[in-house]
Amino acid sequence: MNKQSAQFYPMVPLLRAAEISSQEGKAAAIGAFNVNFYTQAEGILEGLRRGNAPGIIQASRGANKFQGGPDKIAGMVKHAIENTHHQLPVALHLDHGDDEKAHECVDNGYSSVMIDASKLDLEENIRATKTIVEYAHPKGVSVEGEYGKLAGVEEDVIHEKTTYADPYLVPYFFHETGTDALAIAYGTSHGPNKGKGLENLAIHVVDESYRGMKAYGQNNDHFLVGHGSSTVPQDIVAEINQYGGGVKNAAGIPMNKIQEVIASGIRKVNIDTDLRLGITATFRKYFVDHSHIEDNSPEVLQPIKKVLDENPEVIDPRDYLKVIDVELLRNDPAGSVLEEVMILVKERIAAHVEMLVRKFGCAGLGNKVERVSLEEMAKIYQ
Ligand SMILES: [Zn+2]
Repeated sequence: MNKQSAQFYPMVPLLRAAEISSQEGKAAAIGAFNVNFYTQAEGILEGLRRGNAPGIIQASRGANKFQGGPDKIAGMVKHAIENTHHQLPVALHLDHGDDEKAHECVDNGYSSVMIDASKLDLEENIRATKTIVEYAHPKGVSVEGEYGKLAGVEEDVIHEKTTYADPYLVPYFFHETGTDALAIAYGTSHGPNKGKGLENLAIHVVDESYRGMKAYGQNNDHFLVGHGSSTVPQDIVAEINQYGGGVKNAAGIPMNKIQEVIASGIRKVNIDTDLRLGITATFRKYFVDHSHIEDNSPEVLQPIKKVLDENPEVIDPRDYLKVIDVELLRNDPAGSVLEEVMILVKERIAAHVEMLVRKFGCAGLGNKVERVSLEEMAKIYQ
């Protein structure tokens, strides 16, 4: 990887490094962290460096829309990699894509895409996923599907309750579609209110799915993914509320449960809500610590503060950052009025990401990922 053009890794060699580590006795999963703006990417990269961890940076359809398209996100994350001289393997992944967005991301610099056709019945889901695999693999791009339904709200996909994946059909799903990764529903849920979901946690679904994959010899090329796995740290929620927020009933998946599913065969763990909460806590504290911003402040900060003041329950940074020019958020904030708060945001994210990659067992795997380019990966798929 040289400084001029950072290359994204396909997701497969990263997940395989976690699988090999697990087979060698140290259970591991790769952290997949959602990104919406430039500093978030820098914070994630900094956390990965501190833990010497490979990592997946992922953007949802909403994030792509927020930044003006997949090419903008790809450029933004590349820029962050180059600016920070990041040397560890990073994949850029589309989170919860549909057919159209998955195609678009394959064509616009992503090294991995998700097609979430989980709302369809199994055979239609398989067909939709296979279509993307057939488009992505000749370009070396990895694919993640989803099977079963996670409770909670993810972009415009809303499921009232969990429909578990059937472990006996997981090897079949992989075989029929050729997908590299598969998010299976085992009782986690999207969003900051996982409290009720916890009683639905069915780790045996992971266990049995992984055992089936091993029995069919799939586990070195195919990997299970855990969505809805933010821990929702209560100290961050308390901080948000201390500084003017009103986040209620927030509850995540306890870390020991996440580690249990990793030990059972999950190789990619998605983290979105945790970062949203950390960013929101940072902005709220910043505005309280800098109360002069109210009357006598740069144009850019005032509108952000206004949204936060008027919406105590808000936790998604896009809800208050969308009021300023998004281009400011796509670039390195150094020298701008956002620099001061963004330094705090970056540090907050970095510390949390480092903690997570250590808990996920992927710290130290940075140099254990096979260096495979998208072109080489395309040949491997042939
Ligand atoms: Zn998800």
